[in-house]
Amino acid sequence: MKTCLYCGGTDEDASTICRHCGKDFPAQPDVQQVPVETGPEAHWATTTVKWGCGPILLLLALLILLSNFF
Ligand SMILES: [Zn+2]
Repeated sequence: MKTCLYCGGTDEDASTICRHCGKDFPAQPDVQQVPVETGPEAHWATTTVKWGCGPILLLLALLILLSNFF
């Protein structure tokens, strides 16, 4: 159910106009989107996922190079 902003009457979710006063409902439902967590922890997590394998591969390459030298 959604509530009309103009008369306060309730209508079906699918209805595009209020059956009480005939006003158009807004196109977007008034369900507030919860913003995605963008704190430092979330940023750090995405960065870790992004660069998860990079440093390990670099270390392995360095080890192989060093083992060739010695
Ligand atoms: Zn209404």
